[in-house]
Amino acid sequence: MKKSQIYLDYAATTPVDQRVLESMLPFFSELFGNSSSVHYFGQQAENALEQSRETIAGLINCSPEEIIFTSCGSESDNLAIRGVAFSERKRRQANHILISPVEHHAVSHTAMQLANYFDFEVEFLPVDRFGMVNSDDVSKRIRPDTALVSIIYANNEIGTINPISEIGAICQQRGIPFHTDAVQAAAHLKIDVKALNVGLLSMGAHKFYGPKGVGVLFRRKGLNMLPVQTGGGQEFGLRAGTHNIPYIVGMAKAFGYAQDDLIVRNSTLVNFRDHLIGSILEEVPDSQLTGHPTLRLPNHASFVFKGVDGNKLLMCLDVEGFACSSGSACKTGDPHPSEVLLSTGLTKEWALGSLRVTLGAFTSIDDVNQFITVLPDQIAKVRQLYG
Ligand SMILES: *Cc1c(COP(=O)(O)O)cnc(C)c1O
Repeated sequence: MKKSQIYLDYAATTPVDQRVLESMLPFFSELFGNSSSVHYFGQQAENALEQSRETIAGLINCSPEEIIFTSCGSESDNLAIRGVAFSERKRRQANHILISPVEHHAVSHTAMQLANYFDFEVEFLPVDRFGMVNSDDVSKRIRPDTALVSIIYANNEIGTINPISEIGAICQQRGIPFHTDAVQAAAHLKIDVKALNVGLLSMGAHKFYGPKGVGVLFRRKGLNMLPVQTGGGQEFGLRAGTHNIPYIVGMAKAFGYAQDDLIVRNSTLVNFRDHLIGSILEEVPDSQLTGHPTLRLPNHASFVFKGVDGNKLLMCLDVEGFACSSGSACKTGDPHPSEVLLSTGLTKEWALGSLRVTLGAFTSIDDVNQFITVLPDQIAKVRQLYG
């Protein structure tokens, strides 16, 4: 008989909420229209689309025409970075892009492509040992030719939450477009684009119990941005392509649930998280927490273990029935240490032994305790076998 599997990788993705799934289903069949069509079928799709737009706009405190639907969090990041960079170069000869070394690859690889193929200058901000950006450093590095600044809200690998509102205020004062990748943050933190002082903000539905393959980019009205995907006039001319109505409906529904009762759900998660972190650090020799001890996502625990092969550890845990990650879903199988971990000052030897444990809606205290019981032995085993 197969042992029961415990899922502790909610930062990689989440299951679709049953209520969300049900809200989506009619739009695959009887309500199948193209929202751009003028007839009855089109209008029904159009109504669902605009209702979803209004729901999300209301939740993040912006107006509906500031919501752009995309195919995922990665696309939202791409559109923000590439779209604003090209626009700002054309408009005011701005060639400088300021990002942090703890960005998701959807931001950093997009910025590096602009550097390597389009002659933009990409500058990386420093971070402290928790992987946090300091707003003074942003202030010092902004230049008149800065096309945009992009800083991740809450980090997917180490959970650290950046002072986005402070950084945003600085960018606003200097008239520089500011983007934040809030794909992780949206599942657990209140998203209010005015309080955060952001011009652009990315989200993806599958991190908050919505479907995979749909995202949002908030873009403040009047902020110049070139479309990346051209064609039809959908999304105010900023993102061509027939709308994926069922997914958009599902995302709006899921985001409503995600932003509701945040405080109550987070307090349970924080209790579980801190119990897990405390126990692991106490019971595993040569272990360290990565990311900030308190200014971190409520569901997020991440560690490094000296002299441990992180990928081998993941495989051993999987055999024992625990689904975890080394940090980023995109990096599994990659023997290179994570750039995010290296940027916090960890040596390669430590950084290769990373483990991310992320909790969610279906995590029980019993799951956490079982994990705490099993992990120390698995680490000892990996150290012995491969050390
Ligand atoms: C998951 C994630 C992304 C990518 O989102 P997709 O919807 O999977 O493309 C981008 N940034 C962060 C911080 C993420 O956690």
